[in-house]
Amino acid sequence: MRHNFGAGPCILPQEVFKQAAQAVLDFKDGLSILEISHRTPEFENVVEETTRLIKELMNVPEGYSVLLLQGGASLQFAMVPMNLLPEGKTASYIETGVWANKAIKEVSAFGKANIVASSKESNFTFIPKDFTIPEDSAYFHFTSNNTIYGTEFFDFPETSVPVVCDMSSDIMSRVIDVSKFDLIYAGAQKNIGPAGLTVVIVKDEILGKSGRKIPSMLDYNSHIESGSMYNTPPVFSIYTAMLNLRWLKSKGGVAEIEKENKAKAQALYTEIDRNPFFKGTCAVEDRSRMNVCFVMQNPELEKPFLKFVEENDIEGLKGHRSVGGFRASIYNALPITSVHTLIELMQIFEEKHQ
Ligand SMILES: *Cc1c(COP(=O)(O)O)cnc(C)c1O
Repeated sequence: MRHNFGAGPCILPQEVFKQAAQAVLDFKDGLSILEISHRTPEFENVVEETTRLIKELMNVPEGYSVLLLQGGASLQFAMVPMNLLPEGKTASYIETGVWANKAIKEVSAFGKANIVASSKESNFTFIPKDFTIPEDSAYFHFTSNNTIYGTEFFDFPETSVPVVCDMSSDIMSRVIDVSKFDLIYAGAQKNIGPAGLTVVIVKDEILGKSGRKIPSMLDYNSHIESGSMYNTPPVFSIYTAMLNLRWLKSKGGVAEIEKENKAKAQALYTEIDRNPFFKGTCAVEDRSRMNVCFVMQNPELEKPFLKFVEENDIEGLKGHRSVGGFRASIYNALPITSVHTLIELMQIFEEKHQ
């Protein structure tokens, strides 16, 4: 068995792969999930169940809509200001890495971005903590988990302005209070399902105030009105996401997976801190429970270590090119046994090279 530590698209549970494969062959009466109309009652049920599972697993309060969209988190970078930022107004952003930066970049087509804090000077190795969000911001945007650098927000910023969050890489990995947010978005391909689906959770009352004419496909309200069926949705991605959400529910939901995620992260960070060959790259209090970034004390050993683990069934451990070293992505579906295997290999490597 390969242990897949890839950052995304990433591991999903084996049973989800099997059920999805079965539906490709026979979803209903010998017809494949790939050939049925999205307007059939069977698929309408899939959309309904997927939406319901997201609401249930995240405890989404009344007054919010859950949308199944396309275009990835990257399209949300533009849809957010397009829908929420009136002409000439300012939105506040916190700059914690490449994804935050890409979100900031899209604002200029619609208004101004005010960067309230940044950790750029230290190559995004920590989460800024002291900053103020101006009361007249149209909204405040942050990236809850910085997939590339391995930092995560554990204390969410408090503000009276609407809060928008890119939760692509830690959604459903821990219990959060959705009522503290006004818009949450996530590309599905980390914890939710395969690529091709984007989940948006939006508080209805913040919409329709931009004063701007918005193309239908980019208007959250068109998708709310059509129940995420404005056009042909990504049928297979939604179906597979539904299977994965069922799996999560059967495991006991987000609170249970959070315990496992904490145990996985703790085991790996403990080894990184103990093993004299390795060191973590981020501020200890901001260390992500989804993406564990580390390097070797002796950079010359990085290639041999990567080769060694790859020969031993570890996949996707190479760090992002802007950080180097290693990144172990330990999303919901990665079993703790895979983390134990990696730790063992780190210990064997230590012994061999002493
Ligand atoms: C993966 C990722 C993205 C990119 O999402 P796309 O769906 O590829 O657009 C954006 N933000 C974060 C935090 C991510 O981890």
